[in-house]
Amino acid sequence: MRILLIEDSSRLRELLCEAIRDAGWKIDAFAFAQEGRAALDGTDYDLLLLDLGLPDEDGITFLRSLRAAKIQTPVLVLTARGAVDERIAGLDAGADDYLVKPFHNGELIARIRALTRRAPATAMPVLEFAALQYDIASRRVTCGNDEIALAPSEKGLLELLMRNGGQVVPKPKIEHAFSEFGDERSSNAVELAVSRLRKKLDGHPTKALIETVRGVGYMIREARG
Ligand code: CA
Repeated sequence: MRILLIEDSSRLRELLCEAIRDAGWKIDAFAFAQEGRAALDGTDYDLLLLDLGLPDEDGITFLRSLRAAKIQTPVLVLTARGAVDERIAGLDAGADDYLVKPFHNGELIARIRALTRRAPATAMPVLEFAALQYDIASRRVTCGNDEIALAPSEKGLLELLMRNGGQVVPKPKIEHAFSEFGDERSSNAVELAVSRLRKKLDGHPTKALIETVRGVGYMIREARG
């Protein structure tokens, strides 16, 4: 396996290179986004480890440009502690996962294993339910030709419901998913997100309904008629 690292802190770059080589993988490391881009054009990487604060280009912008150019290499972004907005922006820009600095080498290696175990990003599906489409890679929700603008927590909720279309998703599972995105983990936050999501979907002919299953959770199902 070959990994590309773009990180401008030379100390962190050395530590990461060492950890990855110790795990038995190959790594190429650069401090500038433009060097990384050139490397991506010439080599097939299994994973990109991307720092978001780079000297020549903002990591989010860089990531968006990769995805726009249909470069689907799995991306693990390295973000600062507490930077929830940055993590959400990273995931929205097409990152597959994030790691908060400072991190333990064991966690880094485990995340890399998890990401590269999954199907390649090029095979990432578009989830479909009734007249709704959810593109996993770009995190775009559409109904026919119309894009439906949703907040990150609403997208996360819809993805979870669509993956379990026609089945009840227990409320604690949704709360847990919210907490992973750095959102408030509470029953109330889930109810509010469901209510906002329903309103936003209402404006489109989605042929899908989000049903409350009292005492259990929520389910997306096809509207009748
Ligand atoms: Ca940096």
